[in-house]
Amino acid sequence: MFERILMANRGEIACRVIASAQAMGVEVVAVHSDADRDAKHVAMADRAVHIGGSAPGESYLRGDVIIRAALETGAQAIHPGYGFLSENPEFVDAVEAAGLVFIGPSADAIRAMGLKDAAKVLMEKAGVPVVPGYHGKNQDPEHLAGAADAIGYPVLIKAVAGGGGKGMRLVERAEEFAEALESAKSEAKTAFGNEAVLIEKYIQKPRHIEVQVFGDGQGAVHLFERDCSLQRRHQKVIEEAPAPGMTEEMRAAMGQAAVRAAEAIGYKGAGTVEFIVDGSRGLRPDGFWFMEMNTRLQVEHPVTEAITGVDLVEWQLRVAAGEPLPKQQGELAIMGHAFEARLYAEDVPKGFLPATGRLAHLSFPEGVRADSGVRAGDEISPFYDPMIAKVITHGPTRAIALRRLAAALEGTEVAGTVTNLAFLGALARHEGFGVGDVDTGLIARDIDRLVVAPEAGPEGVAMAALAACGLLDKAGAETGFALWAPLARDVVLRRNDDEIKVRLHSLGAGAHDLDIAGQRVEARRVGAGWRIDGQPAARVAVYASDITVFTQYGVSFQVIDPLERDSTAGGDTALIEAPMPGLVKAVFARPGQSVAKGDRLAVLEAMKMEHSLLAARDGVVAEVLVAAGEQVTAGAALVRLEAEAEVAAA
Ligand code: ADP
Ligand code: ADP
Ligand code: MG
Repeated sequence: MFERILMANRGEIACRVIASAQAMGVEVVAVHSDADRDAKHVAMADRAVHIGGSAPGESYLRGDVIIRAALETGAQAIHPGYGFLSENPEFVDAVEAAGLVFIGPSADAIRAMGLKDAAKVLMEKAGVPVVPGYHGKNQDPEHLAGAADAIGYPVLIKAVAGGGGKGMRLVERAEEFAEALESAKSEAKTAFGNEAVLIEKYIQKPRHIEVQVFGDGQGAVHLFERDCSLQRRHQKVIEEAPAPGMTEEMRAAMGQAAVRAAEAIGYKGAGTVEFIVDGSRGLRPDGFWFMEMNTRLQVEHPVTEAITGVDLVEWQLRVAAGEPLPKQQGELAIMGHAFEARLYAEDVPKGFLPATGRLAHLSFPEGVRADSGVRAGDEISPFYDPMIAKVITHGPTRAIALRRLAAALEGTEVAGTVTNLAFLGALARHEGFGVGDVDTGLIARDIDRLVVAPEAGPEGVAMAALAACGLLDKAGAETGFALWAPLARDVVLRRNDDEIKVRLHSLGAGAHDLDIAGQRVEARRVGAGWRIDGQPAARVAVYASDITVFTQYGVSFQVIDPLERDSTAGGDTALIEAPMPGLVKAVFARPGQSVAKGDRLAVLEAMKMEHSLLAARDGVVAEVLVAAGEQVTAGAALVRLEAEAEVAAA
């Protein structure tokens, strides 16, 4: 076994590999970019080497720098993870030329599967069923249109160099073919530098079922299938193993085809053979076709680990170190059922827009496998994939594993960025999915039902108001406010673009009545927690003026609290400064305007949160030093009030 390996990746996959390697007594050298200086994978590793700037092209895609780091730290092998350099045959050649071991397949195996057209030709020869279509060399538009007519509509145009669903177009009718071809080609050219395409029959009610294979360079075994049909724009969202409705006959046929594919290219290490399955007639041994092979460990590998009990990373290291396959086919069996949900920082109602932000809070329920590359306090930066974690559950049956997934998602707490958690939760409770009636169109068909912006509800607003008053861990009296402050206190919360006014009437320690837009809610302290209208309150995370209440997968509010601004304003109460770097969203102050203490003068957006900047005292605006839309640094002066003497003199 290796003594030391280098992990040429970041995020959750780097953490995943480091954990297994260290459990085997293998030291791991991490590499990191500027942005990842304090990342979780760096903290976990035995050593870390800085390899360059934050953009992937300046760090994680620089094979030469990574190989040098391995040589200088005495690493004997390099694990590529997924993405980045994992399927780059030139990198594999360079690693081997440097006398190091690449933990993965040979450069030739990667090349054989690198282009979808060549891979399909190879698979046809190996007797693996491929999707009917045209995957020849002739790229003349007339010829391709003729091929589409011969195949019969609908057809799919695919970039031969494609990946991640890019360069792919569904064409329903002959009239739309020319335009779709044009746009597929230009997307492929930009994304992969290769505009060649192939044409495939579009399979009706398609299901994506893939087989995990593992080879030692000669022979291969399979570790059964995963169903990845829950997709959004050809990207996997929730995966499971085994596939619902799978028969022993079809499993055997798919497993054998996948092993044939792996053995045809002398495959070594972990790989995935992806098939498209016609789900319109049930699962049948003659109803699956090869799509492509991914020559690396896949994002969704944990569901296979859960049902087989195999640590695929451990297998990768052992086979790369020259050991034989740890198990023969007959020794592998399926135990129960598993699901994985991909938790992303993205704004689902805004069209799944990727988001960034600092994770003020992150926690997963006990007993759930959560593979994550970030911790509370870490930043989801704009440079990389916005994945926060993969939540994996296992159970003796599909129904139990799925209920565990739904419960795990409900118990997951993220604050500091928007996430797709509510969307995943809705999917986990989708009826069709619940009975295993899946196909790749499920999400798109039911998108309106699945994308629901969580509503706070009066209980949630009440907890946010208590948090805004600093009463989360206190009953209220010991803060002093019930003694000398007015017995009623107003809190203004902002949720999206709505302002919510809450009046809190204190009835004494641990007893407050809240008036939320005319609705009365009771908050009572019982033991160490709050009860809202008699019910145990949801958990809450507070970060600066951002409050997240964990009902409904997390609902966040911004506090607009004059008192808070008061207490932070130091000596010079005439100057309103930016508390942190950010974007000036709005400026309400006008020169010459009289303002009262607590008036909102400007709004600063920083770290995905809006911060109201309030007048620290009564006064007259002397100068407005910024305009909406300006980016400012921390401490920048935004508004200046006239000195108190000037006001008195005026
Ligand atoms: P899968 O079928 O396992 O989802 P993909 O090919 O879509 O595989 O990509 C695997 C993962 O790697 C995805 O999470 C994707 O975002 C990430 N990824 C792929 N290419 C890159 C890249 N060049 N840089 C960073 N991440 C990448
Ligand atoms: P990528 O390299 O981008 O992962 P794939 O060839 O694996 O491309 O296809 C991605 C997804 O597109 C599949 O998971 C499936 O949902 C859909 N798809 C691909 N080929 C077909 C087809 N012939 N018919 C129907 N859907 C398909
Ligand atoms: Mg694919």
